Order: sequence, then C-alpha cells, then structure tokens
Amino acid sequence: MKNLSANVFINEFTAHFDGDHSDNAARRQTPGMFYCTVQPTPVSQPSLITWNTPLAEELGISDPDDQDLQVLGGNVTTPSMLPYAACYAGHQFGNWAGQLGDGRAITLGEWPMSSGSSWELQLKGAGPTPYSRRADGRAVLRSSVREYLMSEAMFYLGVPTTRALSLVATGDAVMRDPFYDGRTAYEPGAVVMRAAPSFLRFGNFEMLAARKEYEQLRQLADWTISRYYPEVTTGYLDWFRAVVDKTTTMIVEWLRVGFVHGVMNTDNMSILGLTIDYGPFSFLDAYDRDFSPNTTDHPGRRYAFGKQHHIAYWNLGCLANAVAPLFNDTAPLVEALEGFGDLFYERFYAMKAGKMGLDLVGAEEIELVEQFEAVLFALQPDMTIFYQLLITLPESNLNAESTTAHFKEAFYHDLGESEKQQLQECIRSYQDRKNKNTISPEESIANMKANNPRFILRNYMLYEAIQDLEKGDNTRFRKLEHALQTPYADTHDEFFRRRPQWADEQPGSATLSCSS
Ligand code: AMP
Ligand code: MG
Repeated sequence: MKNLSANVFINEFTAHFDGDHSDNAARRQTPGMFYCTVQPTPVSQPSLITWNTPLAEELGISDPDDQDLQVLGGNVTTPSMLPYAACYAGHQFGNWAGQLGDGRAITLGEWPMSSGSSWELQLKGAGPTPYSRRADGRAVLRSSVREYLMSEAMFYLGVPTTRALSLVATGDAVMRDPFYDGRTAYEPGAVVMRAAPSFLRFGNFEMLAARKEYEQLRQLADWTISRYYPEVTTGYLDWFRAVVDKTTTMIVEWLRVGFVHGVMNTDNMSILGLTIDYGPFSFLDAYDRDFSPNTTDHPGRRYAFGKQHHIAYWNLGCLANAVAPLFNDTAPLVEALEGFGDLFYERFYAMKAGKMGLDLVGAEEIELVEQFEAVLFALQPDMTIFYQLLITLPESNLNAESTTAHFKEAFYHDLGESEKQQLQECIRSYQDRKNKNTISPEESIANMKANNPRFILRNYMLYEAIQDLEKGDNTRFRKLEHALQTPYADTHDEFFRRRPQWADEQPGSATLSCSS
C-alpha cells in the first residue's frame, strides 16, 4: 500500500500528447491541444466525508493522512503530479456543441499499480479550468454524494462504471439555480476523487475530427487501442467493433437493473464502455419506459429509460463519423455500426431470460419477453420489487386474484379487472414456459437471484441521505454506503419497499437537472 501524497504518479497521457502547459485557467478554445495543465483551486476547509477502503485496497492506496486530505480537497498537489483538464467536444441533446472539455474535473495523474497498469485519479469540483465556460468549476455536496454512492452502487451491481475513491466537503458555499428558474441559493460544496483506467470519451475523438486534426486522431486511437483494447490486433475496424461491443454490454446492464443515465450526450459516453458522469440519473421505481429524471430532457424525453439503446446507437454513429477519417473505405465501419441492433437484441433477450430464470433463448422466449415487457410497461409495477416477487412465485396454479395478491406489494395503484387478467395471462404463459426448463427449479432461482437486485439506490434514498448530511448527520449515508455493497443479498428489508408517496413529485428526487 502506498501513500497518496508520497507515491510517485506517472503522467503518460500528458507525456504522449500535445498539451497547453501554461497552467492558465482562462476560458478559451484550445486548438491542437489534447489537454491544458491547470492547478486545482484551494478550498477553505477540506473534511473527509468518506473514503472508499475496498477501492483503495484494490488500487494499493493507504488510508489518507492529513497531507492526503489536502490532496483530496485540491489544496495540495505533489511534484510528480501534472494536473490537467482534458479537451473534448460532444453532441448535447442531439446537437453539435463544439468544444466542451473538463470544466470542473482535473486529473492529477496516473496512479501506478503493482499489476503494471495504471488508473487515472481525477478530482471533480476542483475549480475552474480553461473549459469551465461560464461556470465555476465547482460541485455541490448533493451531486457529489449522488456520484460517489451511485458509481459504487453500479460497481457492486456488476455494471461497468467509473469509481469514486473519496468524498470531501470543501467548507465553501457554492451558488446554484437547481431548476433554472431564478431561485438561486448557496449550497455546501464538495469534491469527489474519481478513478478509472481512463476518462476518455467519444467526445475526445469528435473534437479532433471536428478540428480536422487527423494525425492527432490517429494518435489517440492508437493509444486507446494499445492501452485499453489489448484484444484488438487488426486495426481500427476491429477496435470500433469492440467499442460497439462494450457499449452494448453497458446499455444491456443498465436495462437489467433499471438505470436511467439522464444525460447521454456523446461527451458523457466513455470510450471504455463505462458508465460515466453521474448527474440527473435515476433507477426506475415504476416500470415506465418514458421515464426521464432530467428536467432539461423533459421536452422530448430523448434520454428516457426505454430509449437508451437507440441513443447509444446514435452516439456510436457520432463516434463512427469522428473516426471515419482513419478509414480508406468506410463501408465496413458503417456495417460495424449497423451491427449494434443484432448484438443489442441478442444480449437483451438473454439478459431478460436470465432475470426470468429461463434456461435458453429462442423464438418462444423472445415472444414471452415481449409479452412481459408490454404488460409491465402497461401496468407499471415497481421494477425491482416485481422481479423479486417473480423469484418467489408459487409453482401452483394461480388465478387472477391470487396472482394479483402475490404481486400486490409491487404496484403503485390498485389493479382493475382487465389489468388483473393481463397480469394473470402473462404469468400463466410464464409458468407454462418455465415448466419446460431443463435446468432444475433451484438453478433457475439461483440465476434469477444473481440477475435481479434486491437493493437499488433509489433517488428518494439519496435525497434523504443528502438532506441529513447537509445537517451534519451521516447515519443514512453510512447505511446506504453499506447496503449498496450487497445488492443481491436476501437482506435489505428496511429498503425493500416502493418509492414512498412524499417522493412522487419531490424536486431533487423525482426531478433533477444538470445544475450540480
Ligand atoms: P455534463 O453534461 O454535466 O457532464 O457537463 C457538460 C459540460 O459542462 C462539461 O464540459 C462539464 O465539464 C461542464 N460543466 C458542468 N458543470 C460545470 C461547472 N460547475 N463548472 C464548470 N464546468 C461545468
Ligand atoms: Mg460530462
């Protein structure tokens, strides 16, 4: 185990690529640059809200001492660090947005690990960078708590994600207008240290392509392949296919656990297929395909739960466009992009079959999954509770009344007669099919338990934990931090309930914005 402020960081990204080394945070366009060096801006009084011991152990980082705390708050950098903000562009809500870049994230350097590889350690909320545009480079406690806990929750659910190592309160107030309606208020500030093999996004490639810096584009693609895609040996096409593959896996995993990202702009799409940039996200409570937690997204609900695979495909299209200059013939690139649909549906049905405890996926199973989806989207039970109750479904013959009674806990409304019938028909087809399983009922149940979380980090839970933390009480925060580590355990009775009514319309829980 090595000490954060005493160990020597490596800086291979900055050594490999052109950057602006002026340490000047003045907002500007940075043509020709992959990054700008910039120092974190000190804060008044950094205090540690939490430290991620399991992740620290994985990375080989020892518990933070006083000097490390100064690093985590952005008050101190050590001589081996070369802090920088990366330059990227992106499509936001379907429109080309030009240069964006790390407006409030500052990478301190790469942390070398005993395995020989390294992880980027990055402070989010550490102050202005050349890419902060009109904003302050800071982050509020509420959004930092959400990112810290949710990225860890996703990790323990088995979903590809960036991680979070620490959460530090800054002691400074930050002004925000959470609903863009002129009701500004001061909120406590915080800094999260994020960790990932790399924070490169689709947008890093889009930036170089837009600037027609094709040699740099090639350098970045080569770097990404050699460091993060060792399995790719035959060139850019193979690599693009691998990005499609990883992105598909990520989306299917989101749909498995009921995650809605909320801002799937191309600058928020990791080139490694990791869930990245946790903002106005939510788990589904009711199984609503049109649910989008992000008020900025409400006009069109572009980023709603049930559209996420379409958006992933659209975003991969932007990436394909960006890397097209690396291809003499783009036909195979387009073909690789078009492969998304088949790959997605194959994995989607397999994932659903896993959730339902079915032993294989053929035409009959696909039809059953579609029937299930249609009924669930129509009746909108709580997704997590419904699938938990599916695990304990009695094998006996159920009628409409007994089926409804079995799933009662999952519903947000009393079912009408025709709804009960719909549910019953779908459960009957399910039982008929399950009786044909060639695996044992025990094995089927074990599969279901492995694929259906019992604990999900619901927005109302985060909301309550944040309210308490802001008052200085970390009890709820600690409970969530603990619970999220075992999402598939048979425990969690305290959290195993539908979203309470008070949270139905609660701003900060039911609705969120990009203001964070
Ligand atoms: P997002 O979609 O929230 O990931 O952010 C979009 C862009 O806005 C990125 O370039 C961010 O770095 C930037 N940004 C968001 N919030 C801030 C902030 N408080 N200060 C500076 N830049 C920000
Ligand atoms: Mg972002």
